[in-house]
Amino acid sequence: MAIAFVEGWDLVQTLGEGAYGEVRLAVNRATKEAVAVKIIDVRRVAATAGPETVRKEICINSMLTHSNVVRFFGTRRDADIHYIFLEYCSGGELFDRIEPDVGMPEFDAQKFFRQLLAGVEYLHSLGITHRDIKPENLLLDENDKLKISDFGLATVFRHNGRERRLSRTCGTLPYVAPELLQPDPTFRAAPVDVWACGVVLTAMLAGELPWDQPAMSCMEFVDWRQRRLHVTPWRKIDSLPLALLRKVLEPDAEKRATIPEIRQNSWFNHTLKRGGVRRESGESGLGSKRICSGIDLSPGSLASDERVRYSVSQPEPRLTHPSPSQPTGSSINALLGGLSFSQPLHPDHMLLSSQLQSTPGSSQNPWLRLVKRMTRFFVRGAAEEVRSRLSEVCEGHGLSYRQTCPTQVTLSTLDRRNNKLIFKVTFLEMDGRLLLDFRLSKGDGLEFKRHFLKLKGHLYDIVSKPTPTSTPTSPTPTSPTLTSP
Ligand code: ATP
Repeated sequence: MAIAFVEGWDLVQTLGEGAYGEVRLAVNRATKEAVAVKIIDVRRVAATAGPETVRKEICINSMLTHSNVVRFFGTRRDADIHYIFLEYCSGGELFDRIEPDVGMPEFDAQKFFRQLLAGVEYLHSLGITHRDIKPENLLLDENDKLKISDFGLATVFRHNGRERRLSRTCGTLPYVAPELLQPDPTFRAAPVDVWACGVVLTAMLAGELPWDQPAMSCMEFVDWRQRRLHVTPWRKIDSLPLALLRKVLEPDAEKRATIPEIRQNSWFNHTLKRGGVRRESGESGLGSKRICSGIDLSPGSLASDERVRYSVSQPEPRLTHPSPSQPTGSSINALLGGLSFSQPLHPDHMLLSSQLQSTPGSSQNPWLRLVKRMTRFFVRGAAEEVRSRLSEVCEGHGLSYRQTCPTQVTLSTLDRRNNKLIFKVTFLEMDGRLLLDFRLSKGDGLEFKRHFLKLKGHLYDIVSKPTPTSTPTSPTPTSPTLTSP
């Protein structure tokens, strides 16, 4: 459902959810330019993280201009709602490209890792640390270029050439560096981001996270420290990238590879062949048995079909809508309340009076875009039947199923690390067909993907082919309408 947002712009669809609000896609009716709008409920932030948090996120965003960092266009505030206008990344999140337990082709992992490192190096050159680098915060544009996103936890660690050590423990446990988990920690900022990049690289190459947290209470981390590389995920990774990971995931922050050192690394500079034979897990120099968590990857199985679908080296044409164009300075002025983005921001100039009103007929707009997310598929059958099948399948898999709004159900469970996992399924009717759109709300992206694949496998008899990720031709761009399950 499209919603009139501000003169000339409509809010089209939800792109994602965060702790303090959601991110929606705004499209300019005339020019078709697209912008991501992060909508933050200031009261919710104030109650938990403190009122300074949003100001800091905006301030840091406004300092950044780099091709591997999501571009910031500006901000405005309407009473308790803060809007942050950002470059729209139609390629979705990096974790969408990681096949659970397998990863992605080494070529793609290397490409994304290089781009990630370029973005992080840029941030560090400005004295900024991100502090929450993980695949969910790494977005892709329409050309699959990686963009670092979500500066909600970022902070300045160097000012006027003087570096300060940090002491606040924040981030996401599987990605945080071990020095953060020491009692009364004080640590340097840059090596912490570098460590997180190493965990991301591991996830890209092996399709799994190496540990719950880098603490001696965690067996996998102890194994890593003791160089037991015959265990998963290391046995799935070739010796050259593994040698780099040993330097990046060096528990001693003083000895950990720096970005300039990573740039000298042989795998980092190695020219890999695009679209070479897809690397199978267990096929590395350390070769060993392949582990798949509940997904049958044997040839001919449903899941082996998935394996192709998630392969980045063999992309299938995806559901394509008119390709998004990035906004120009003049067209975005309406969003910013008449301010150009180069002007300083004054909260009192950024008020909107009539946004978020529903526009009758706006669902017929021809420019609707869908973010290229792979966690969706079309099904055959009436919404009611599909809902009851999904509910049955969820019950059989220990997933709690709750209808949260007429067009959406919320599924929740504990993942294999015993962490909470919540995701939503939205029912969208498109061209007379029903699209099930799965989106992570809380928890680990890879675990979400594992559950998605399992559910899809169990609904195989109603999944209609070709799926939106394999539609050979671009469908006429029609807007999905939300359908009550
Ligand atoms: P968190 O609680 O994880 O910190 P948050 O409130 O800070 O979340 P973001 O992480 O910035 O919100 O965004 C939530 C989700 O919205 C992202 O994971 C992504 O799927 C989507 N998203 C955010 N920004 C964009 C963008 N510029 N283009 C496309 N999608 C986006």
